[in-house]
Parts: sequence; C-alpha cells; structure tokens
Amino acid sequence: MRSPREVRAVVGARGRGVGAARGASTRARASAVKEASAYEEMKAPSELHGFELVREDYIAEYDAKAFLFRHLGTGAEVMSLSNEDENKTFGVTFRTPPTNSTGIPHILEHSVLCGSRKYPIKEPFVELIKGSLNTFLNAMTWPDKTAYPVASCNLQDFRNLTDVYLDAVFHPRCITNEKTFEQEGWHYELDDASGPMTYKGVVFNEMKGVYSSPDSVLMRECQQATFPDNTYGVDSGGDPTVIPELTFEEFKEFHAKYYHPSNSRMWFYGDDDVEERLKVLASFLDEFDRREVDSTIGTQKFFTEPKRVVKSYATGEGEDAQKSFVQVNWLLSEEPFDPETGLVVSFLDNLLMGSASAPLRIALEESGLGEAIVGYGLEDELRQPTYALGLRGVAQEDIPKVEKLIHDTIAKIAEEGFTQEAIDASINSIEFSLRENNTGRFPRGLSLMFRSMSTWLYEGDPFEPLRFEEPLAKLKARIASEDVFRPLIRRLLIENTHQVTVELNPDSSLADKEAAEEQAKLDAKRASMSADDLEKMVQATKELKELQETPDSPEALACVPTLAIGDIPKEAKGIPSDVSSVGATKLLTHDLFTNDILYAEHLLDLKTVPAHLLPLVPLWTRALGRMGTKTKSFVEFDQLISAQTGGISVSPFTSGMRGTDEMQAFMVVRGKATSDKVGVMHELMSELMLEAKFDDKNIFKQLVLETRAGMESRVQGSGHSVAAGRLDAQDSTAGWVSEQMGGLAQLEYLRELTKRVDSDWDGVLADLHTISACLNNRAGSVTNLTADAKTLDLSMNSVEAFLNSLPAVGAGKSEQWTGINPKQNEILTVPTQVNYVGKAANLYKAGYELHGSSYVINKLLGTTWLWDRVRVSGGAYGGFSDFDSHSGMFTYLSYRDPNLLKTLDNYDATVDFLRDLEIGKEELTKSIIGTIGDVDSYQLPDAKGYTALMRHLLNVTDEERQERREQILGTTQKDFKNFADALETVRGADATSASVASVDAANKAREERPELNFVVKSVM
Ligand SMILES: [Zn+2]
Repeated sequence: MRSPREVRAVVGARGRGVGAARGASTRARASAVKEASAYEEMKAPSELHGFELVREDYIAEYDAKAFLFRHLGTGAEVMSLSNEDENKTFGVTFRTPPTNSTGIPHILEHSVLCGSRKYPIKEPFVELIKGSLNTFLNAMTWPDKTAYPVASCNLQDFRNLTDVYLDAVFHPRCITNEKTFEQEGWHYELDDASGPMTYKGVVFNEMKGVYSSPDSVLMRECQQATFPDNTYGVDSGGDPTVIPELTFEEFKEFHAKYYHPSNSRMWFYGDDDVEERLKVLASFLDEFDRREVDSTIGTQKFFTEPKRVVKSYATGEGEDAQKSFVQVNWLLSEEPFDPETGLVVSFLDNLLMGSASAPLRIALEESGLGEAIVGYGLEDELRQPTYALGLRGVAQEDIPKVEKLIHDTIAKIAEEGFTQEAIDASINSIEFSLRENNTGRFPRGLSLMFRSMSTWLYEGDPFEPLRFEEPLAKLKARIASEDVFRPLIRRLLIENTHQVTVELNPDSSLADKEAAEEQAKLDAKRASMSADDLEKMVQATKELKELQETPDSPEALACVPTLAIGDIPKEAKGIPSDVSSVGATKLLTHDLFTNDILYAEHLLDLKTVPAHLLPLVPLWTRALGRMGTKTKSFVEFDQLISAQTGGISVSPFTSGMRGTDEMQAFMVVRGKATSDKVGVMHELMSELMLEAKFDDKNIFKQLVLETRAGMESRVQGSGHSVAAGRLDAQDSTAGWVSEQMGGLAQLEYLRELTKRVDSDWDGVLADLHTISACLNNRAGSVTNLTADAKTLDLSMNSVEAFLNSLPAVGAGKSEQWTGINPKQNEILTVPTQVNYVGKAANLYKAGYELHGSSYVINKLLGTTWLWDRVRVSGGAYGGFSDFDSHSGMFTYLSYRDPNLLKTLDNYDATVDFLRDLEIGKEELTKSIIGTIGDVDSYQLPDAKGYTALMRHLLNVTDEERQERREQILGTTQKDFKNFADALETVRGADATSASVASVDAANKAREERPELNFVVKSVM
C-alpha cells in the first residue's frame, strides 16, 4: 500500500517493534447479525439547507444509514453516514492532480492549515493538536487527491474541528501571505551577506528525507515508470531538486482552481445529527457559485510491449551497501475495476502475496537471490490499479535471475492453480478482517471514507465499496463452481504487455554529486545577485525568522474554539479487569463486547533467556513456525492459522518500572479467533511453541538477511527511534535489552550472525533451541483475555489446555540482566541528506518525582517551543520530546532535520523557554484539554484489554491514574518553573546526545564542538 504525505509526522519515539506477526491480517467468522436496527428506518431530515438528497441506503455491514447529498449551489457532494459509533469523523477531499514535481499539492496541504479568515493566527492546526480531544487530526496528499480528515468522540470538539478545517481549505491566508509559502514550501536562507546560502522549507526538507531512503526512491521510480503519460508520472510530494522552481503565483492558481466546493467530496460518519451536518456545510458553501473544475485524472494507455528502466540510488562505500533493487510492475487496467473484478483481484493478491506462505512470497524468499521482498502487490487506491513485486539486496548479476524467477513462478501458478487449503485460508483471512473491522488507532469512519473514495473520486458509486457481505457470498459461490483465478493471472500478469521492470543500482558518488548540484545552483543564484540583493535576502531571512519566533497574542489565539475544563470528565476511566489465576499462571480477564471474538495474550518469562542470547530473540520469533513443525510443513501450518483464526503472533515486550531498577520482560504469544475456534487456535499456539522446527539453515539465513535489510532501512528512515534506543541503552538495563533486540546493537549482531550461520550453524541452531527451552516455562506466566463474559467462559477450557501443555519449569533461571552502554555523545553516520538528532537524561535519577503536570508540559513543548524552533524556523519535518514515565528518561528528538548542533542548542534552551514562559489561562486550559485527549485516547476493545494488562504489569493502579489526572487538571504556572528545574539535567553533565547523520554533518559537528567528544560510528 502506498502511504500518502502527511502534514505532520506521527512518530512514536519508542516504537521499536520486533518479532513477526503471522497471518496477522486475518479473520474468522463474526456472525453477530443485528436484529432490527433503528438506523435501518432512519429518514433524511426535512430541512435540507440547500442540499438535495441524491440517494439513501442502509449499510448493514456497519449498521449505518447512508445518505448522498448534493449542494444545489455548488454541486459539492456529501456522504453522510449515521450509526452508533461515538468516534465521529469528518473529511473534505479535493482532486488535486499535479502536472509537475514541484510538490504544489503537498505544500498547499501544509499551508492551508497556517491560518484562515475566521482563524487569523499562525497555525490553527497546531492549536487544535494542542487543545482538542481529537482522536485523529492530520492532512494528507496522494498522487491525485488531498484529504483533510478529523475525528473526535466529543460532539462540541468535533464541531470545532470541522469548522476550523472547512475555513482552512476554503479561506486560507496562505494565498495572500507569501511568507507561509516560503516557510512550508521553500525559500533561500542567508543569515549574513558573506555566510552560506541554503534552501529551507518544511516540505523541502521532508522530501529530502524521503529521497534519502532507497525504498522511497524505488517506489517513486516504479510509479513514474508505470505511468509516464498521466498525472501519476510526477511526484505530488515534490522532488527537492524541482521544488525551488515553484512560484507563489502557480501556488495561488492551484488553490483557486482545485480547492473549490465544486471539486470537493465531503464525508460525515458517526452518531451526530444529520441535519446539523448540512447546516454547518451550508454556512461555508452558500457563498460559492458552481464552477466547472477540470480535475479529471487522465488515463495511462497500455504499453504495447514491456519496458525497462535503470536508475541509481545514493549509498555509502561499504561492501554491504553495493546491492541493487529490482521490481517488476504491471498496470492492470485502463479503467477502474468494476466491483466484482476488484474483489476477485484482491483475493488473487492475497493468494499470491498476502500471507507468509503465499507462493510468490515463498519463491522469492527462498531463492537466496536477495535480502528482502519489495513491492506492495496490488495497489488499488489510484484510478488505475497496479501490481508490483521484487527484491532488494540483489547482486547486480543476479537481476535477470530474479526477473526470470518472478515470471516463471507466476506461469507455474497459472498452470497449477491454488490448492483448496490455500483458498480456504485466504477466504477466512479476508472475511475475518472485513467483519472484525479492526482499524487500530485509526478511526473506523475514516477507513470507510478512504474506501468509499476509491470509487467516488473517479465518478464511481460511493456506496459500493462499503458493502462486502453480498459480493463476498457471490464470489465464494463462483470460486466453488469455476476456475476463477488461473485465467485472471494469465490476463493480468502474463499476457499483459504493460510491464515495467525497474532496476535501482547503488552509486556511492551520487550523494556528493547531488549535493554539488544543489550547491552549484545556489552559487549561480548568489553570483547573479548584487550586494543590494544579498542585503535584501538577509533582511528577508531575518523577517521570516522573527515572524516565526513571535507567538500569536493571547487575544488572537482566543479565536480558536476550545472546550472548557468543566467539559472534561473528572474521573479517570477504568477498564474492566478481573485478576485471578489458573494453576501457576496469573489470569487477567476483561469483559468487553468484542463481537464474538476472543483476544488472547499469553506472556512467558523472557528473563529466563541468558543475556548473551537476547539479540537472537527477534530472529527466533521470525523463525518460529517458518520451517514448519514436527508434523506439518510451513505452508500447511500457516494456512491452518489463516483458515481457523484471526492470526497468531509472537513478540517480546520489555519495560522499565518506575521507582525500581527492575524491569518487566516477557515473550508475548498473541492470537485472536471467534469463540467457536478458540480451541483450535490454542492447539496451534501450543504446536507453534513446543514443536516448531529450526533446522533449515538456508531459510534461517534468508530471515537474517531480511531482518538486517529491514533494520538498515529503519536507521535511514526512522533514525530518531534508533537514536532514542542508543540513549536508553546508556541509561538502564531495560533500555539496553531493548537496543540489543531492536536498535543499532541488533543491526551489528545481525551482521555478525550472517557470517556465523555459515561458520557455526550447529552453534546457532543450539542457541535457537536454548531460547525455546527457556521460554517454554509455565512459571511466571501471565494470561490476558479480552471478550464478553460468555466468550470468556467458553474459552477457559482451551486456555487451560494450552497452559497445561507448557512445561512447569523451563531450561533457564529467571534472572536480572545487567548490561548497559557507556555514557557518551554519539553520531551514527549513514548516507542521508537529513539528520535525526536526540538528546536525553533521566529525570528520576536527578531527583524528579512524577507529577501529572509533566504530561501537560511535554505536550506544550512539542506544540510550541520545539515545533517553532526545530520545525518552523529550523526547517525539520518534526521536533518533539518524549517523557517515559516508567523509566524517567526525558528525550528530545528531531525528524528529518537539516541541522545538528543548532538543534542541540534549541533543546538546551528549553529550560529558559519554560522559565520565561508567562502562560495565559486560555493557553494553559488548552494544553490541559489536549493532554486529557491523549490520556483518554480512543481504543477498540482489544487495545483496551492490552492497555489494562500493561498497567497491571507496570504497577499503574487506578488510584494512581486518578491522582495523575487530578494533577493534570490542576496544572499551574508554577509547575512549569518546577519542570524547568528538572530539565536542567537534560542540558547538564549527565545528559548525552545521539544522532543519525551524514558523514559530512558528523565531521562538522566534531570540528565545531570538540569539547562534546562525539564518538562517530559509521553504520552504512
Ligand atoms: Zn508533508
């Protein structure tokens, strides 16, 4: 799946997941058919406020009444869905096809959120992040559309968000204020006439980061090669070498043309009033007239013969870096698929690539020709669907072999077809996921909006993608009676002449060449300027900075609607939890409505694994089941999981505990299934844990290469999390353990392991068995179950049988590990055009005691000081701080940052910012409300059950949560000063920094600040 560009990076500092999910996107039968629903009979409002009702329908799948309205004045279309979901959503989407790679749609997406007619302040968007109860707030640009979605469970809050967004898109200040364009798009920065001149801009830098990641380069090259003749042939996000060609005039024209109601599609979903929705929209749309907006997405005609494109990407000098990427791409259709074809093709995709045991996936993985699979399989979010797959980490001479393998495997599948087991597994997977509708933290209403958009945006029927029961039943009948897939494979992938093979080769001189080209452009610009021009540029740079660093006045900020403290519930919400035990296992159960599904987590004591084997644990989880079990092959086993459950996965969990040197560490065996399949699921879990085989050296080596490739792209693409991991590893054993399993230490270990698999396979195999023998141990285990009482009851026998299958004691002893990294300032170098800069210290060790106000202050820093300095004037895509209330680590982080030392200085100046801050009452209220919004974040039942488990393990009681909440609600100015004192430690002698940066940036930092004794490590 292609991910859009977003106005803000929602990046968790501590997202260091390891371990593989098996059949994770799978489903089972959730047949809770509702009886007569109130929504089924729902009528459209009698007063339509200038809209006409075009169509109405009842969507049984989501128990929702759906109306399609059209605004009579402008022709704007509105989909309005009503159901019981309290997580209300709204979105406005425009078709915004670009004609070049200057990034107009993306820069506009950022800019319209920087002030509007009703909200004439610098960034109403940031005020909303700061002070609303939103469950989703962002803006996104795709190759052909731009969307502005919001969500909230609180009605007043939802209305506020909707109002700010509508005003932003239709009446933004950025079309009259060139400074916004310069800030978000690009501008020349020149601090003094004799100093260096550079390009700056939030999008400019965001895209430099994107263009530094070879995976993104591959994706872009493939899209452009597949669609050379329509709008998908350019980059809507912006190519950093082209962005500086964009003028303010073109930018304004683009807004005037496409951000018009006649070119808009709007969406409402949830339990709010339908008539009120129309009333709000009318208040914005009534002042516009209808206009013909030509925003049609042109058709890419089929090629008459396959093509080949050879490109390069920037890499370091190391031997490991000298590998190529190759991906084969197909254009599947000149027109959007009709609903039936669309569904069949998504099944076909699932069968070919969708599960760990899918044949194309296996063929590529086991070929030994590359390190990891690239390509997303089916992409059907754009007007014309595509298919793509390939390998990364391929030796250049092996590229033809990879292509041959792909084509031969497809031909073989077209010849032999799929087994009944594979088809059953695929059907269950897709059904389970459609019915469970588990969108995680992403609001369900927005996931439906984007689904609806897949046809609606291209003049199709917006209702059609919202249904699945009937089309699914029909397709199942068809699959049972005819050979559906083999002719389809032949037509779409074999006889189809619109194929493009893209080869991406390493070029260790490319980064320097690109930097030199950029410098040459800047030099030419400077040479063309008179002394007077230069002085003007210095002045303009100064003015922009001043503007950026001057906060809005409290009076101006008051225009953004906010809730009052009184609107916030005083009581911390609890999650129903019952603690008991089954034999030696502690049992937690959460009685929550889950639509007939049991969510189970079984936690085994990870501390039984000796410290030196910890870095092998992630590989152990990936290898588990991948070589089959004593009685079943991998394919058989994986298909059974898909056919019977909603997925089984195994991954480690570790965390420090507040007030102690101890940590929690478990291996989490997780699964979900409908109540009638809970028994089978637990038998499969037991088989996985006790009978998994590890003895296939080739497969294991492949897993090592794949994991290594994933880690390498993480260092380049999410350097902030790698930097945070380094800092944690210097602070505590919990941090060190986490780094061993998912940070730079893991990458270094994997590089050694690659060699050791060949030199000492028996030793590796023995280690893998040791890990199993240690973990399969009932002592110290915890089981966590989430479902309604009846399903919980029905599940208990199977749960006990699973627990009883585990040995009472394992091969290892539960011990405290002791590892820790030395304290030092580090810079990890990789080929990149941007930096990730981190700095941290432990506040608890410096004597700080946890107080609820710290959440409010941390939130405020990320939306004021750090946002303004690191992002707005610094030019980074993101800058924020993270306070881990368990370990006490306070960490500053930046994301895709053009600076390094300057960012560290900004971090240090945070203390002074807090000390000098005169926070007004409104500003404080806003920050408190926004913090409560985070604390009370919306969760689906499985997430609630897991959260309750975490609280239990980490000793966070309901009493403590209530106390913390009262502290949040009672935060005062004085707390800010106190916290400033606590933050002294993060600029003091105990603090260290860790950054991911280019060699050049590292050398400069070392030269400029020798006293910081930077230890520079070359990573790639
Ligand atoms: Zn962006």
